[in-house]
Amino acid sequence: MEEAKHFIGGEWAASSGGETIPVVDPSDGQPFTTLARGAAADIDTAVESARRAYDGAWGAASAAERGRLLYRLSMLVAACHEELAQIEARDTGKPLKQARGDAAALARYFEFYAGAADKLHGETLPYQNGYTVFTIREPHGVTGHIVPWNYPMQIFGRSVGAALAAGNACVVKPAEDACLSVLRVAELAAEAGLPAGALNVVTGYGHEAGAALARHPGIDHISFTGSPETGKLVTQMAAENHVPVTLELGGKSPQIVFADADLEAALPTLVNAIVQNAGQTCSAGSRVLIERSIYEPLLDRLATAFSELRVGPAHADLDCGPLISAKQQRRVWDFLSDAQHDSIPMAAHGEVIAEAPEDGFYQAPTLLRDVPPTHRLAREEVFGPVLAALPFADEGEALALANGTQYGLVAGIWTRDGARQLRIARRVRSGQVFINNYGAGGGVELPFGGVKHSGHGREKGFEALYGFTVLKTVAIKHG
Ligand code: NAD
Repeated sequence: MEEAKHFIGGEWAASSGGETIPVVDPSDGQPFTTLARGAAADIDTAVESARRAYDGAWGAASAAERGRLLYRLSMLVAACHEELAQIEARDTGKPLKQARGDAAALARYFEFYAGAADKLHGETLPYQNGYTVFTIREPHGVTGHIVPWNYPMQIFGRSVGAALAAGNACVVKPAEDACLSVLRVAELAAEAGLPAGALNVVTGYGHEAGAALARHPGIDHISFTGSPETGKLVTQMAAENHVPVTLELGGKSPQIVFADADLEAALPTLVNAIVQNAGQTCSAGSRVLIERSIYEPLLDRLATAFSELRVGPAHADLDCGPLISAKQQRRVWDFLSDAQHDSIPMAAHGEVIAEAPEDGFYQAPTLLRDVPPTHRLAREEVFGPVLAALPFADEGEALALANGTQYGLVAGIWTRDGARQLRIARRVRSGQVFINNYGAGGGVELPFGGVKHSGHGREKGFEALYGFTVLKTVAIKHG
């Protein structure tokens, strides 16, 4: 495969230093291409290019024109659906059917924001007699986007889709572990007619290109998705220039299952919410809280489902692919060895198929039961296919457990009792609540983001457009 370069000002560019980073296929652990190792100088060039676009052709485009260009991009993405899915599956290791779902979501992000571009407006405000006051929603200017490796296409699409619709020019730093789909989409954006510099992608390591972007004085807003630790660093760097930051930092999302729930409907969703993308999903349902009277029977059913799960290379298109990297595999093993050391019972696990290449980063989905609420397996984000089951006695305990971590991204509630659905939905501390379903972050139209250490600000839906704009108030005294 051809070596990947940065995409700056509508053109491919090697790194200023000429250095590259190997790109490894998680399914077999083998390098198959390289990407450009971006440095501060490359970020400088990209930010200058974005600024020129913002001050030039892109900034001059009307909202309707921006919408038309984004719609054209969504059509191109749809036309390249299979190609993008193949790129994503190889780069991230995710099963092809999941990568196809991501490619479809990417097209939908651009379609949604294409339609929203010319529907973003201010208000007129009642004020003193003799005044007319109104607000205008303006783009920030040049926005920075730091994207993780778990859903490169989708997270890129949700972030730049909204930022571009609002009129910003973007500089994107995708993750060093998986960024090939993002580069291809940047090329498609140019083909769709986006002016040069409206969308720039600089690849490279986080502490180099990522940090250079976060602390760049030419950036007007930063959107970051990734770990809480890096999110804190990015916030600190952006604060040097008083740049606003949107953070999406993952979670330890609970699924609360009451005895009156429709277990037939719940079961596949409980499994999928932790197995999808090998558990490397910020909104993974990684804790299942089960009412004590159905704890054993539901665990039996979950154990059967887990033991039937099959793991293999992306192209085998099984339930689960490999983890992204050897580093991520070590992280998951570390959690599992703590579970073993602390005698947390393993209720069941899936199987890695015999044909899976030896050097791939595989991990069988694992169901742990009776996890003590204070244990790190009940509190910290594993970011792997590991489900922690905990029993609860009543609604009060269920809520205390659900709210008992530092995170608050998504919660699932399974019960037929309507009043209880609403009580818990109101009291659970999370950015999204799903009742008798679990979206695992899905839903282009639905505002998404966290509370507490899961971050702040909202991506997706119309709400994201507010984050990518600043409000200006204009007061006219006319007597
Ligand atoms: P990370 O947060 O370090 O990386 C996310 C993005 O930030 C990448 O593009 C990376 O290059 C960039 N980055 C890293 N250091 C940076 C810095 N100093 N300045 C600016 N940008 C920087 O995540 P990781 O190391 O890839 O994974 C570690 C853990 O983070 C995972 O195990 C998982 O728990 C969590 N994670 C969460 C999400 C999510 O969607 N919430 C995504 C990826 C990882």
